[in-house]
Amino acid sequence: MAEPRQDGVIISETDIMFRCDGCSKSLVIEIAGAGMPVTCPDCGKELVVPELEVEEEEQPPQASDTPIGSELVHELSASKKHIQELRALVKELEKHRDSVERDHAENLMKVKLIAENVTTIHQAAENILHILQTPVKRKNAGHDRG
Ligand SMILES: [Zn+2]
Repeated sequence: MAEPRQDGVIISETDIMFRCDGCSKSLVIEIAGAGMPVTCPDCGKELVVPELEVEEEEQPPQASDTPIGSELVHELSASKKHIQELRALVKELEKHRDSVERDHAENLMKVKLIAENVTTIHQAAENILHILQTPVKRKNAGHDRG
């Protein structure tokens, strides 16, 4: 269903509707009259029935009309090249990942080693503290006057 517009509009299978330039009256004429001169029955002005440009826009594009075969081949080869590039990138990343994992393992070892040393230091510190807190037995036992 088409709505009336300023331009030519199909209102049925066989008719066009358009407006008179003179009196703005809606005129209906057979579709075969498109582009033909007519006289307005109301004001007598000579008009040209508008050509139709409607339906064609709404038709879906037909893929079979265009030679897309060669374009597809081109796209395909470009895609293949792209895939090769990506594969090379993946290999590089895998190599990088391996080295990172090695580093990670080494770092874990280091962290473990450091943790052990920290524990040792902690124990040593506690020992030192214990030694410091142990009252010194002096020969002349007595309180220091500070
Ligand atoms: Zn008219």
